[in-house]
Amino acid sequence: MTSPITVTTQEVQSFHQAIRDAETIAISGHTNPDGDCVGSCLALYAYIKNRYPDKKAEILLEPVGERFRFLKYADRVTQTPGEEPYDLFFCLDCSDSGRLARFGETFEKARHTVCVDHHVSNQDTFGEYRFVNAEAAATCQMLYLLFEEPHIDFECAQALYLGISHDTGIFKHSNTTRQVMEIAGALIEKGVRPEFIIDETFYKKTYIQNQILGRALMESILLLDGSIIFSVIKKKDMEIYGVDGSDMDGIIDQLRVTEGVECALFLYEKEEGLFKVSMRSNGRVNVSEIAQTFGGGGHIKAAGCTVAGDVRDTINNIAYMVEYQLKQDSEND
Ligand code: AMP
Ligand code: MN
Ligand code: MN
Repeated sequence: MTSPITVTTQEVQSFHQAIRDAETIAISGHTNPDGDCVGSCLALYAYIKNRYPDKKAEILLEPVGERFRFLKYADRVTQTPGEEPYDLFFCLDCSDSGRLARFGETFEKARHTVCVDHHVSNQDTFGEYRFVNAEAAATCQMLYLLFEEPHIDFECAQALYLGISHDTGIFKHSNTTRQVMEIAGALIEKGVRPEFIIDETFYKKTYIQNQILGRALMESILLLDGSIIFSVIKKKDMEIYGVDGSDMDGIIDQLRVTEGVECALFLYEKEEGLFKVSMRSNGRVNVSEIAQTFGGGGHIKAAGCTVAGDVRDTINNIAYMVEYQLKQDSEND
């Protein structure tokens, strides 16, 4: 049984003290914000609004996906930081300053910084106050533990539920612990409607999103006797369908559940010759380790990186590392 993650009373106090000591606060997260990243940023914003209404908080994030826009405060997300350095900069669900992309400079200039995260690849030099636990299923789970429960209102609860449900693959990945379910239950008591959040933000697809999913599955290829599956979508095809990265979110999950697969790879071309790589493992392969060799990172079973160059070389290199890990794993059996 997995034991619950904990934050100490002292950690809760220093988290709150950092907010109390600040007048201006920036809340930010990783590039290509996913459910946990958007959820964390909106939840913290809602919490500060409720608990510390006199603070001047801003959410600095890349534009949030259409499917998250019904959430309260999603319309407050901005890409334009204030001119003056912020007193406090929250970096949420983000393993390193490079992943803050265009907000990295604002982070560097801030008077104080806080990092709340759960990536195994998070570097321990990142952030002045650090609340980082790779055992946590989601950054939203950590925030829930850092927040004072009575000050979590419906808007905040909804955003936390979004993050926890997405990063657990809708409560089914191995990070779904008793504590995760108990937190989800507490959020439901705050008025969250699971079927609404899950359908609106996870399962619902536009026609075009379904088409590109179909295309990626049709063109997927098995390697290493079916232990690896990969699929690639080129820029010109993305243009034909009129899709961007956020339209292809579920593709990797569908590839991963292919019978016999140990490791799934999905690549799409962000710019000419520059590929975003998503990797998922079914347990025997540590994909975070592989992603880190390409300058990326993530979790043991879900990681990513961005790689320039010939896409076949990238796939061959990754396949070689997967094969090596699988061999090591069978030797250890
Ligand atoms: P993705 O495949 O983009 O859904 O990412 C899977 C996991 O790996 C997520 O938790 C991401 O935050 C993380 N991740 C993806 N790309 C990177 C990267 N370049 N550096 C660090 N972590 C990453
Ligand atoms: Mn994330
Ligand atoms: Mn996360």
